[in-house]
Amino acid sequence: MREPDTGLFVDGTWAEGPGRLPVADKYTGEVIAELHVPGPGQVDAAIASAARAGEPLPSGERAAILRRAARLLDEERDTVLARYVAETGFTPADATTELDRTLLIFELCAQEALRLTGEMVPVQAAAGHDDSICFTMRVPVGVVAAITPFNAPLSTVAHKIAPALAAGNAVVLKPAEQTPLCSIVIVRSLLEAGLPERLVQLLPGPGETVGDQLVRHPDVRYITFTGSTEVGRHIRAVSGLARTQLELGSNSPTLLWRDADLEHALPLIVRAGYRKAGQVCTSVQRLLVHEAIADEVTSRLTALVHGIPYGDPRAPGTQVGPLISTAAAQRAETLVGDAVGHGSRLLTGGTRAGAVIAPALLAGLPENALLASEEAFAPVLAIAPIGSIDEAARMANAGRYGLQAGVFCQDLDVAFTFTRRLEMGGVIINDTSSCHPDPMPYGGVKDSGQGVEGPGYAVPDMTESRTILIRHRPPSPD
Ligand code: NAP
Repeated sequence: MREPDTGLFVDGTWAEGPGRLPVADKYTGEVIAELHVPGPGQVDAAIASAARAGEPLPSGERAAILRRAARLLDEERDTVLARYVAETGFTPADATTELDRTLLIFELCAQEALRLTGEMVPVQAAAGHDDSICFTMRVPVGVVAAITPFNAPLSTVAHKIAPALAAGNAVVLKPAEQTPLCSIVIVRSLLEAGLPERLVQLLPGPGETVGDQLVRHPDVRYITFTGSTEVGRHIRAVSGLARTQLELGSNSPTLLWRDADLEHALPLIVRAGYRKAGQVCTSVQRLLVHEAIADEVTSRLTALVHGIPYGDPRAPGTQVGPLISTAAAQRAETLVGDAVGHGSRLLTGGTRAGAVIAPALLAGLPENALLASEEAFAPVLAIAPIGSIDEAARMANAGRYGLQAGVFCQDLDVAFTFTRRLEMGGVIINDTSSCHPDPMPYGGVKDSGQGVEGPGYAVPDMTESRTILIRHRPPSPD
């Protein structure tokens, strides 16, 4: 499968650029596409084209285009899934889940386009405004820059560009270097669905050059970014007055209280710890287990994790494919070694062959191990015992991240205590930290980010408020 387009879409043309970006199959290593990387002049041209896009489309048309694009993506399902599996190394099951989520995100954004509205302002309270009418309108911000990570090349791209377009903006998309192919299919579907060409520009290429130029550009009015905390912090530092929405790193905890329903919880935890080879920002990395059930949980989880089929993502039954690169797998191996060096017990997995890591489970995670504070982004889950609510909250809140936490607990009083005590953007009761239905507001606190995704929140956020005040008659001179 070779990519027919250059992947570089600037000012209405699939253009050629001075650089090349080879894209490899993450399991076989075969180069499956070579995209064109824009030069600085083309990055400027893309932003200028987006800025000249003209009057926003009527909301009904925006909604119709998003819905048609989703239909076209669905019709191309087999091609999209094959491309996704090749460029990510994730399994076909992971690919299917993400494509289905993408279609839903497009539909939800279409609905938001139709209900986007301002509000009436009761200015009559101010002296001299008995006859005034005041209201606000939501107007597009203009040019939105969307920068996405490697680990969700369909749904995260959808969570950026669909709300931007639903809100009436033009969007310049810079997908991750390692997984840019799905973005091409999405952009092509939007164009075939009738999106005017200037409203979308696609710039494959390195973050340090193409992405950096984009986020520094004064005509970019809003930056929607998902990726590491380090790059997010850099974007805040260089982007001037552009508004930002930043979805950043995490090392998410999930808590099993002593009354947790383990039949229900353990399969969910295994799925949320290891799907996409653990390369999900909300993956269960730290499992805080009440000491009363720690032995039972440890032995049951060891059996479950030991049995996870891993390796070739296309082989029937495989649940864990390779990591995005051998370097990422080596880093994971180092984190496991560090935890063991600090006294943790490796219960299963943790061995590496190239970019593949055998699903790893550790017990007795000490608080000074790197896995307790850093993000692994790998199929690695570490158990730590907790004895009280205070201890559980202190350990869950330790460190710089605060994206989401899961709490399995039947006692409502304990559950509500955790909702108050956990310093997270989201607390999920009776599911894992990775539970993320797309309509919900989703975003982190602390070093996990700022602002929230979710169509109902992102679409209005990608607009500006314009205040209109109408006087029925000129104000009296006194
Ligand atoms: P990353 O290295 O931060 O890259 C993210 C994007 O930023 C890529 O497109 C990258 O381009 C670009 N970039 C790099 N340097 C840049 C710069 N100076 N200016 C502008 N853009 C720049 O992250 P990743 O490794 O792809 O993804 C993993 C990270 O994403 C993890 O930390 C994970 O937790 C986080 N994540 C968070 C969420 C969430 O919702 N909170 C969801 C998913 C992932 P290149 O590809 O060329 O490097």
